[in-house]
Amino acid sequence: MALEFLHRQPVKIRFGSGSIKKLGEEIKTLGAVRCLVVCDRFLKATVEAMQGEIPEIAAVFSDVEENPQLSGVIEATKLAQKTQVDAIVGIGGGSTMDTAKFTAAIARENADALACFKGECPFPKTRFPMIAVPTTAGTGSEVTQVSVISHGREKKTINNPVFMPTLAIIDPALTLTVPPRTTMNTGLDAMAHALEGYWSKNHQPISDLTAIEAVRLVLENLETAYRDGSNLKARENMSLAALLGGMSFALPKTAGSHACSYPLSEDYHLPHGEACAFTLDSFVRINADERLETLCRRVGLSGTDELADRIKALKKLAGLKMTLSDLGEVDMDKLCRDAAKHPLMGNNPVPMDESALRRMFEALQ
Ligand SMILES: [Zn+2]
Repeated sequence: MALEFLHRQPVKIRFGSGSIKKLGEEIKTLGAVRCLVVCDRFLKATVEAMQGEIPEIAAVFSDVEENPQLSGVIEATKLAQKTQVDAIVGIGGGSTMDTAKFTAAIARENADALACFKGECPFPKTRFPMIAVPTTAGTGSEVTQVSVISHGREKKTINNPVFMPTLAIIDPALTLTVPPRTTMNTGLDAMAHALEGYWSKNHQPISDLTAIEAVRLVLENLETAYRDGSNLKARENMSLAALLGGMSFALPKTAGSHACSYPLSEDYHLPHGEACAFTLDSFVRINADERLETLCRRVGLSGTDELADRIKALKKLAGLKMTLSDLGEVDMDKLCRDAAKHPLMGNNPVPMDESALRRMFEALQ
């Protein structure tokens, strides 16, 4: 088959320890003068302290929840209107990025958040510039056009170019204080993004290259970052792995492990990274083929079995949930049904119906 692909990476990326200091300068470069910073309550004091040095920070919205709700977007939008800002900055993990992206998309034209969420009206044509400053190494949200937002019990993964950040400031020093378990969860999320982008039915050559390097960086640095959070070199390499992981799935999208992660998060309350990691080594074995063997050899592994074993060992090291009994009482019918019907399951290179998923889960004893 002839080689054909379309690649696009529109985000300006500034990477380096201490690069957060460039935030004020970068806001001005975007032509903005007043920005709203979106963060969670744990970062509120840090961001407010930054206001002394960066006068462009005009307002702070710090009520981002773990599973971000549309109500948070509506509140942040109101604050953006009231304080007359002209740019949105998200400083935090995945939930913060999701809220900041949605807010930047609707606040400039004060669009109806619920109507946009439900798809009853298109997102406005103009939006505020958006700067993504990740404080964990995993989501890759700084280079993707995805926002995951809930309205009550309805959780939606919306994929829309309107959510693509204008600029990513990746400062690995911001991840030095991330606790070990979160370091492992988010690091394995980065690994899942890279592997799933690589084996997605929509994989393409440039994303393949970022995927291979992201897998190599995670294998060589995640254990060190987990054991010694203050190791800046390991943190730098994990921030780079997360960025490259994000670039690996931004266009091809993820596949089976992410499809399974949604019911595992919703019904069994696993954090996103842990939910993806739960089935990642199973999918390495299921999706094993010549391409995946090539990736393994290029990152210095003997083959797909070793890759699966390494992922399993990382989960075990951090005490992540690994077996069905770790989940408690499992409604197997619902778990397999919800995972099978998730649109991302269609990207998996090996077709997985409910009975194939049941065999995979039942092997996790
Ligand atoms: Zn993910």
